[in-house]
Amino acid sequence: MTHVVMATARAGRLAATALGLLLATGLAGVAEETPAKELFGAERAPAPLEARAIGSYARGCMAGGVPLAVDGPSWQVMRLSRNRNWGHPDLIALIERLAEDATAEGWPGLLVGDLTQPRGGPMLFGHASHQIGLDADIWLTPMPDRRLSATEREEMEAVSMLAEDSRKVDPQRWTPAHHALIRRAASYPEVERIFVHPGIKKALCDGAGDDRGWLRTVRPWWGHHFHFHIRMACPADSPGCEPQSLPPPGDGCGSELDWWLSDEPWTPPEEPAAPRPPMTMSDLPRECQVVLEADAPLDSAPPPRPRP
Ligand SMILES: [Zn+2]
Repeated sequence: MTHVVMATARAGRLAATALGLLLATGLAGVAEETPAKELFGAERAPAPLEARAIGSYARGCMAGGVPLAVDGPSWQVMRLSRNRNWGHPDLIALIERLAEDATAEGWPGLLVGDLTQPRGGPMLFGHASHQIGLDADIWLTPMPDRRLSATEREEMEAVSMLAEDSRKVDPQRWTPAHHALIRRAASYPEVERIFVHPGIKKALCDGAGDDRGWLRTVRPWWGHHFHFHIRMACPADSPGCEPQSLPPPGDGCGSELDWWLSDEPWTPPEEPAAPRPPMTMSDLPRECQVVLEADAPLDSAPPPRPRP
C-alpha cells in the first residue's frame, strides 16, 4: 500500500515536472519564434544607448537612433504614421545636408520617405533592408512650396519616372534637376550605394557626359522609380556594422545595365522560390536583444506619482 502511494506520488511529481518543462519550453518556443518584425515594429522610441549600426543592412538593428525633424528648411517627411523617420545620427546629418545642397541644384526640397524604425530591425511591411539606420528613401517628386498637412503626407502619391509600360524614363517627367539631385547624393564619400530603377540609371548614364565617377555608386535595382534609395557606408562608431563590398569599378553603364534592361531580370522564374520564414531574434546579431530590451528614455516614462 505505502509502496503504491509512494509510487503514485512520484509519478505525480514526475508528471508535474514534465508539464512544467513542457510549458516552459513551449512558452520560450513561442517567444523565440515571434517574428522579429513584430517586436521591432512595436517599438515607439529609440534605444537610449550610444548610437551605432548593428549587423547588416537587411539583418540588424540600431542603437541610439535619432529622428529626422518632420519639417526642415528644405525637406518634409512623408507617411508620418509609419514612425520611420529615424536613423543613425550620420544619416540624419546627411539628409539635412542633401536637402540644403539640393536647392543649389535647382531641386526645391526633399520629400523624405522611409528611413528606419526607432530601433531599426525588420519592418512589418515594406523593406528587406533599412534595418540599421543607414538607408533612406527620397521621393523623385519635388517638394511643393508649402507645408503639407498630415493627411496629404499619408495620401499624396509619388510619381513614377517611367513611361507607361516601359523600362525607360518618360522624358516629360525626367528633368535635369532629377539628374543633378542624384549626382549630388552620389558625390558624398560616405554614400556607398544609391539604388534606382535601371531605366533611371540609363538616363543618368546617357546624361552624364565626361563626369562619370559618381555613376559607380548608382546601382540598378527593381522598383525605385518613384523614389531613390541612399545607402551609407558603415560609420566609424559602429564596429558591429557589417560592410558591403564596394560596387565593381567603372560607371556600370555597359553590359550590366544592358542585362537589367533586357527581359531576363523581369521574367518570373518557372518555379517561384518558397517564401522564407520571417526572421526571429536568433537570426539577428545578439546585441539586437539588448537594443530591444533597453529602457525607453526617461522623458517618455510616465510622470512620478506624488508622495502622500
Ligand atoms: Zn529603400
